[in-house]
Amino acid sequence: MQFNSVLENVTTYEAGKPIELVVREFGVNPKDVIKLASNENPYGTSPKVVDKIQELAKNMFIYPDDSMFELKEALANKFDVTSSNVVIGSGSDQILEFCVHAKCNENSKILMAKTTFAMYEIYGKQTGSTIIKTESDTHNLEQFSKLYKEHGADIIFLCLPNNPLGECLDKDDVYEFLETIDSETLVVIDGAYQEYASFKDEKKRIVPKNLIETFPNCIYLGTFSKAYALGGMRVGYGIAQPDIIQTLYKLRAPFNITTLTLAAAIEALKDEEFVNDCIAKNFEEMQRYEEYAKAKGFEYIDSYTNFITLKFGDKYISKQVAQELLQKGVIVRDLTGYGVNAIRITIGTQEQNSKVFAQLDEVLEKLK
Ligand SMILES: *Cc1c(COP(=O)(O)O)cnc(C)c1O
Repeated sequence: MQFNSVLENVTTYEAGKPIELVVREFGVNPKDVIKLASNENPYGTSPKVVDKIQELAKNMFIYPDDSMFELKEALANKFDVTSSNVVIGSGSDQILEFCVHAKCNENSKILMAKTTFAMYEIYGKQTGSTIIKTESDTHNLEQFSKLYKEHGADIIFLCLPNNPLGECLDKDDVYEFLETIDSETLVVIDGAYQEYASFKDEKKRIVPKNLIETFPNCIYLGTFSKAYALGGMRVGYGIAQPDIIQTLYKLRAPFNITTLTLAAAIEALKDEEFVNDCIAKNFEEMQRYEEYAKAKGFEYIDSYTNFITLKFGDKYISKQVAQELLQKGVIVRDLTGYGVNAIRITIGTQEQNSKVFAQLDEVLEKLK
């Protein structure tokens, strides 16, 4: 069958492997599986959110509030903007998709870092756009500037901090770069891990209100999937000027956010203490990974997120390490597909991390 020809270039996103797969394929007891491949919050869903969901479960025969009034208000409050500055999506992924479809067609160009969130390229290619990437794996603004001057761009993606590598640009450098960008170019600031970055280093903090007031061609994206521990609920948001928000809403299907999802997000926003507590523990545990890497002589990327990327150089093959770990019930992300000989490990709980080190020891010994 003939399909839209632009789809010939599109690859399918490969998600982190689910627990069920490890149980099925390797016979590991589900309780022993350690899933550290999708940057979920390992401390689980906030109990207040769980209570709310249980209370609302009986209401599922009613369509959700399609205006999403309450969640928009809550987000507008949190970020000191108005509801007209807020768009909600089924994950911030859906807003990424809206952004690309709002701006791009076969004649468009999209600029991004070489090793960054895979969905930017996938959504871009769905529209037949040309993808332009920096030579540098991590975000390098000089290279962004050079490519922008050479080719222009309809969209620029900045992942701050960057998944899957973990590095993060300073806010001041980002602003200096944004000064040079044409008002017709939509700049997407993907802040999926901003809560982590700004906790670790104030210089990384992007304040959405200030961003969109200073640069009206920018949109800031946030998600409830990482620090807010709601990956299974699928909800994210965008903060931008109303003209951008109104256009993105034209691409939205009705009732794209479920009743339970809306309630969970509203409840999660009320429990900032839980979030901050999780983030603090994340960085304590990350130090253990840094020490582990140093002890083994691996390079790692200084991370502003809830994951760490270990580079194996010519010591080991990341694909083998990831596969061996998988058989032991530890799910991590191999970055071979991104062209990097490294694995990305989500920082787990103290107990999970101790088990990871023990398993990793065995795997490295075997592959030596
Ligand atoms: C996880 C993630 C997202 C979005 O996740 P959703 O679950 O769709 O909200 C967006 N960007 C980056 C870089 C991510 O890591």
